Amino acid sequence: ERAVESGGGTCLYDETMHAAQLDRLSLETDLRHAIDAGDQLWVAYQPIVALPEGRLAGFEALVRWDHPTRGRLSPTVFIPIAEVTGLIVPLGRLVLHRACHQMVRWTAMREQGAEPLFMSVNLSARQLGDRDLLETVTEALAESGIDPAQVKLELTESAAMSHAGETIGLLWRLKALGLRLSIDDFGTGYSSLSYLHRFPVDSLKVDQSFVAAMCRSTEGRDMVRIIVDLAHMLKLDVIAEGIETAEDAKLLSDMACGFGQGYLFSAPLPPREAASWITSSEIAGR
Ligand code: C2E
Ligand code: MG
Ligand code: MG
Ligand code: MG
Repeated sequence: ERAVESGGGTCLYDETMHAAQLDRLSLETDLRHAIDAGDQLWVAYQPIVALPEGRLAGFEALVRWDHPTRGRLSPTVFIPIAEVTGLIVPLGRLVLHRACHQMVRWTAMREQGAEPLFMSVNLSARQLGDRDLLETVTEALAESGIDPAQVKLELTESAAMSHAGETIGLLWRLKALGLRLSIDDFGTGYSSLSYLHRFPVDSLKVDQSFVAAMCRSTEGRDMVRIIVDLAHMLKLDVIAEGIETAEDAKLLSDMACGFGQGYLFSAPLPPREAASWITSSEIAGR
């Protein structure tokens, strides 16, 4: 009502903007505390399986925040804030440390000689720009004692391209630590094919929007096929994300997509539940 009196929608709009800014600011403050305290933040693990048989191949670490008053917040809400404020650097370090330690504990639970599982951890553009990244990663590897070959870092195309020239050097130095690199959400960014084959990456992750489009149209299917074929041509592994139906899984394995993750197999799980995947190493989703 007041907004109308004072001359239309503009004031109302400003108030909304202001409220949103305050909200962001309070989340930022809370996130800073949460990172320092560490206990509201935890890591969920989503199984990644080999197609078509569904054998457990690894996990993706996905951060979760149980906010004391707002409840569980999605990373799509707080990761952007963490990126803008630089909090992604200490947050990313926390996730990397926990994920490496977790994989070491899980590896110890498995039979000797079992095929090693990998642990995939997301890296944002801002982290790639952090001058201490190499040191942070080196430290997490050494401190946890994980076999570096079990670690995969996921970066989006845009992150990789953002400081393209310098990034290539950094990626090679990360690779020299013995870990593996993956391009996340492939197909959604502005990637350049000429860069793609110069980046020392080991795998591509087909974005879930393509997987979702697959069952809707032949064009959708063709897009996924092109990405899978491209990956093979570049001698990269392919991991499809967002597999929700048995039909998706069948289409993907017919295209020789090697790996997949999605609700069909499992949602991201708290550590204790993820561990039951390891002890049983069962075939899920069918
Ligand atoms: P992402 O790396 O592409 O992760 C995949 C997202 O898809 C996850 O969302 C996962 O829960 C969701 N997902 C998995 N299976 C399915 C499915 O079958 N259907 C659908 N519709 N979705 C599925 P989540 O956990 O909400 O994370 C969102 C994004 O937040 C991630 O996308 C990643 O970009 C970012 N993120 C999460 N944790 C971290 C982190 O520790 N560090 C950084 N830098 N980013 C993170
Ligand atoms: Mg990812
Ligand atoms: Mg992804
Ligand atoms: Mg995605």
